[in-house]
Amino acid sequence: MRLSRAFLPTLKETPAEAEVLSHRLMLRAGLIRQTSAGIYAWLPAGQRVLRNVAQIVREEQDRAGAQEILMPTIQSAELWRRSGRYDDYGKEMLRIRDRGDREMLYGPTNEEMVTDLFKAYAKSYRDLPRNLYHIQWKFRDEVRPRFGVMRGREFLMKDAYSFDVTPEGARESYRAMFRAYLRTFARMGLKAIPMQADTGPIGGDLSHEFIILAETGESVVYLHRDLLAFDALANDDMDAKAVMDFWTSRYAATDEKHDEAAWDAIPEAERVSARGIEVGHIFYFGKKYSAPMGLQVAGADGSTVAAEMGSYGIGVSRLVAAIIEASHDDEGIIWPDSVAPFACAILNLKPGDAATDGLAEQLYAAFPGNAVLDDREERAGAKFADADLIGHPWQAVIGPRGAARGVVELKRRATGERVELPLAEAVARIKGAA
Ligand code: ATP
Ligand code: MG
Repeated sequence: MRLSRAFLPTLKETPAEAEVLSHRLMLRAGLIRQTSAGIYAWLPAGQRVLRNVAQIVREEQDRAGAQEILMPTIQSAELWRRSGRYDDYGKEMLRIRDRGDREMLYGPTNEEMVTDLFKAYAKSYRDLPRNLYHIQWKFRDEVRPRFGVMRGREFLMKDAYSFDVTPEGARESYRAMFRAYLRTFARMGLKAIPMQADTGPIGGDLSHEFIILAETGESVVYLHRDLLAFDALANDDMDAKAVMDFWTSRYAATDEKHDEAAWDAIPEAERVSARGIEVGHIFYFGKKYSAPMGLQVAGADGSTVAAEMGSYGIGVSRLVAAIIEASHDDEGIIWPDSVAPFACAILNLKPGDAATDGLAEQLYAAFPGNAVLDDREERAGAKFADADLIGHPWQAVIGPRGAARGVVELKRRATGERVELPLAEAVARIKGAA
């Protein structure tokens, strides 16, 4: 994308309405724009990050054996009456009437819809286990939408739903998602800590919230330091049960669930208290929806059993803000390579100069559709400031002196480290990091 033609609007001033850092940076870097309270349009750079985050989520769901579907945002009230949740859900649910005066709603979650969908096909125990997920917009009319996309009213969620014949099978499905979540967040450069949680209106008896550590997070969390050392990507060969056993054998609790006595029993040097943001929540709730909605299959012994179900959410749009909370400095965002909107920004310090133009174009051509070329007639300082603000993981600075020697100055956003390299080596360095 050439900046001279791009729709990547940055702001110099800090928007007054934004209370938290990620919200301020998302507005200043031109990632999002509010259209109504708690509802946002995603601008090109923001949309690219959102898409990258969703893609990592998708790859890890697929790897864990879940299958992607796409359910609609609009659901019928009648479906929710069958589970008994239509009246319980209260004012968070956006209720709509169509032209035929039928009661509809904008889905806040999809347990009812997926149960009904799966029920049409599942006849016997051989049709299970299955795990179906989608990545779709949700609407919850939050009392206090705030902090930008961190707590929006319309937000993008990945929600997966598992169907098993037995409680033990359902626990195995739960553990598979538990492990997939750790990998998912690790690939985004985040430390995610699963914590035992209340099940709330979703219901059920086994539940974990995944909290990522960030100094500016809303929740206070307490954990054993061993948990911080766990590397979900390096421990790839560990089976799901071993992973979950490891995590549940060490202390980790949010403020609400904190147990002073258990905490005091941990040697002081091994305790860590930190702040965090909930980015995922998983539940095992058994027959809560399958029983009232009639999702039953024939068991191996000829009896009829209601499916054992779980649901597994990830806040995809919230993650974009959470990554910023976890990775920024005074100048702006520092994107991990895995989710960055572009692999690199190429700063041509002297547009119109044959040597800088030539080198910049060559570098730009090495990243089709995945680099920003700052070809604007702007001061160098403004170019540096915008690139730092948007947080491109690499900046390739091309000035007349370097261009005469055929070298670019490569700056790593995360460390500030700079190195002069010939073009081909610069390309290899950037590609090697991604
Ligand atoms: P919270 O406790 O933050 O209100 P929740 O428990 O209502 O979240 P879940 O039903 O568990 O949320 O939804 C799964 C995930 O969706 C959450 O872990 C969170 O990351 C995300 N999420 C929930 N509500 C919002 C929202 N209003 N805006 C953005 N993301 C949200
Ligand atoms: Mg929750």
